[in-house]
Amino acid sequence: MSAFEYAPAPESRAVVSIEPEYGLFINGKFVKGKKHFPSINPATGEKLSNITQASNADVDKAVLAARSAYQKTWSKMAPAQRAKYLYRIARILQERAREFAVLETLDNGKPIRESRDVDVPLAAAHFFYHAGWADKLQHAGFGSAPKPHGVVGQIIPWNFPLLMLAWKIAPALATGNTVVLKPAESTSLTALLFAQVCQQAELPAGVVNIVTGDGAVGAALVNHPGIDKIAFTGSTDVGKIIARSVAHSGKSLTLELGGKGANIVFEDAAIDEAVEGIVNGIFFNQGHVCCAGSRLLIQEGIHDEVVGKLKVRMAKIRVGDPMDKNTDLGAINSAEQLMKINELVDYGKKEGGEIWSPQCTLPSKGFWFAPTIFSGVTQAHRIAREEIFGPVLSILTFRTPQEAIEKANNTPFGLSAGIWSEKGSRTLWASNQLKAGVIWANTFNKFDPASPFGGYKESGWGREGGRHGLGSYIKGGDHE
Ligand code: NAP
Ligand code: MG
Repeated sequence: MSAFEYAPAPESRAVVSIEPEYGLFINGKFVKGKKHFPSINPATGEKLSNITQASNADVDKAVLAARSAYQKTWSKMAPAQRAKYLYRIARILQERAREFAVLETLDNGKPIRESRDVDVPLAAAHFFYHAGWADKLQHAGFGSAPKPHGVVGQIIPWNFPLLMLAWKIAPALATGNTVVLKPAESTSLTALLFAQVCQQAELPAGVVNIVTGDGAVGAALVNHPGIDKIAFTGSTDVGKIIARSVAHSGKSLTLELGGKGANIVFEDAAIDEAVEGIVNGIFFNQGHVCCAGSRLLIQEGIHDEVVGKLKVRMAKIRVGDPMDKNTDLGAINSAEQLMKINELVDYGKKEGGEIWSPQCTLPSKGFWFAPTIFSGVTQAHRIAREEIFGPVLSILTFRTPQEAIEKANNTPFGLSAGIWSEKGSRTLWASNQLKAGVIWANTFNKFDPASPFGGYKESGWGREGGRHGLGSYIKGGDHE
């Protein structure tokens, strides 16, 4: 009998219209740029559009527009009015959800199932959630008259382009700040579509400005004297550069950086559920997830059973066309990221890890990496310490619960962790010991706008989401 196969079920791209060239979004209008760079579809290598590389003068104009909108309009507006704009944006995101999902998948390479069911609905949910706060800030525990910072510079990565934009823009606007945002170089398209949503929502000009380009544009924002606060999501290396640049400038700073999350499976866990959680923890979004469960810690007695079942499950992961509704694992976002993954995987092999991937045929064009596990990894291996940011899992073992905690915490990062156990007391004990900003029990990669997200140690400063996240956009609020 032949194996059960899925027929192709491609999503149509007819719902999006991509312009051949995009300008910058400054003061409510698209402004033509001088220099451009291509944005490509990483699943095929096809060029999607030309994006503007903003100059320092463009960044100046965007900051001035944000300042003027802050002084003349946004800070003077009744909070309930501001809320109406946020609700309007949330509704438009829902109405145009399919368009956003298709565009995100084309530009980023993530499976349409994820952009449709996770990225876009969560982005809308962030605007709804923060719209609700906009006129209730005096009850949020930041004093009776909380004040915004003013003009906020925001820099985001390429792994969840629209969702990271929503995490940044929604709380900033709800608290009365205006924004200049820089998307990642390889994924600007949904931010530019969001600029059109701002126009459609008739958001006052200059409240949101979008400047595209490379890291130099991010640095120009960070160093701009007209900015009151910087909110950055990206790598720990760039986060450190930004922290140094901002020191003594008087700017407020929040950093959401890298991670090397431990996913801990105790011997009393429900193993089939844990295997689903392990797969979700590392293969969701091709492992391009800061809070990925990239270090699997299995209690020794169940190691062989868990790894055996994991391999059976991994053989069922469908890798390929991200636009196919049946695809589980899409394309790696860029040639650079694929190079980084390959480099670390080669290191893992050299250091003696035992590598395994299921049989799968990778497409001939674009950037791809098969789902991969390394067993026999030790704490000293680079693949146990460094973020791979790809579909690669490092597997370690432990004997006692105490050893699990020591290994889990033995990292410069502290963003996320997972616990698999049927025993409530063990779960509570372990979550109290783990130094991670987010801890999931018997699940993984669950997000909600009401739940604060952020890291310990080199995973960052400050929180996004929930009441804590609001504090980052209120003067003095980060220290509450
Ligand atoms: P990245 O290289 O640090 O880039 C992030 C953003 O910063 C991009 O927009 C980038 O522009 C810009 N940038 C680069 N150099 C800069 C500089 N000197 N000054 C200011 N901005 C600069 O990170 P990435 O590779 O895109 O993203 C992956 C990283 O993000 C991972 O480490 C991941 O863990 C982390 N991440 C963290 C969270 C969280 O919430 N903690 C969430 C998602 C991702 P270009 O695109 O032009 O390089
Ligand atoms: Mg792209």
